[in-house]
Amino acid sequence: MFDDRESAKLKATSTKEERDLCFARFYERFPTKSEREEVIFRAASPYGIKCECGNLVANRKYGERTAICPRCKKKASATANTLFHGAKRLSAYCCAIFVTGEGLAISANDFSMRNGIATSSGNIILHEVSAVVVDQFGDAAEMISAILCKPVAKRSKETPAREHPKAEQIEAEKRASTSVGLKRSSGDNPRAMSEATRPAKKVPESDLERRILDFLSLQPLQFEDLAKQASLPQTELLCTLTMLELGGFVKQLPGNCFAAIENDMPLSFQQPRTPVEARKAKHFFLFISKTFHAISRKYLQRYLARYWCFVDRERWNFATLLEACATAAKKSYAQLTSYVTPLSVKVMFSEAC
Ligand SMILES: [Zn+2]
Repeated sequence: MFDDRESAKLKATSTKEERDLCFARFYERFPTKSEREEVIFRAASPYGIKCECGNLVANRKYGERTAICPRCKKKASATANTLFHGAKRLSAYCCAIFVTGEGLAISANDFSMRNGIATSSGNIILHEVSAVVVDQFGDAAEMISAILCKPVAKRSKETPAREHPKAEQIEAEKRASTSVGLKRSSGDNPRAMSEATRPAKKVPESDLERRILDFLSLQPLQFEDLAKQASLPQTELLCTLTMLELGGFVKQLPGNCFAAIENDMPLSFQQPRTPVEARKAKHFFLFISKTFHAISRKYLQRYLARYWCFVDRERWNFATLLEACATAAKKSYAQLTSYVTPLSVKVMFSEAC
């Protein structure tokens, strides 16, 4: 399905050397904590601090977040009501914006270590920055999230218990199909990759049926191999396959083989429709697996944002990302972590794919 040689030509992650160099550029440009913080303060309040009394406070000292308003004598903060509102570790924010803006592919682990902060802190900062980028997709092409769920292998709170992480996608589709169905993407969008996002298809009712279907693709699979893979007694497997066959999910083929049926495949098993789409998706998969190893479906859209920064070297740099962050609204921790990637995701792929 995928052509490995094609995508191998395009780099899919940043090497350790590239990460070292990127951090060296950061330290060179912003050698001290106050320089890193000052650039944030200036971006957040470029014309002075807007005091609650309405006064524009211009007497803030270099590297200082607050200044006393000459009119009302109250303390005014340069980061009030911005993404950086009340944020500690502004140096790390500055670093996250710098390296993401430069299109560096880096894990939360590595980022946090280099910044000398806890992984959880580094992770949430990177998520905050990614969430800003998510809001910048605008009228970018939409794609069914299922096509991009291949590298999803991490469990999240959304993943049903005792199920493969992919079950999260099935659950999301089930919920959507029982409500309104998927939104159609605009057909006149020149960057559109899929002509339209189709309504969610039916999925098997029982957990076991869905689990078995998960093992099957369009390629025929021997009954014995399937039994081994699913570690299920043959009688139980046969019974489940019969139900799947009746439901139109599976067909039996000569040689006691079984395969999933394309037309009735739920969205979760959708494959890219064109070679170009497959190549683009493949490059994203490589980016994920080489940089983060695995991600949860829940945050897929944010990783697509990180990927956009990685591939789009014209749109994103330190200045453009800093501006986007400085004008973005503060999201609470709860808002950041309760986010769930919608069924239809926004994508910006590399033109080179
Ligand atoms: Zn004031």
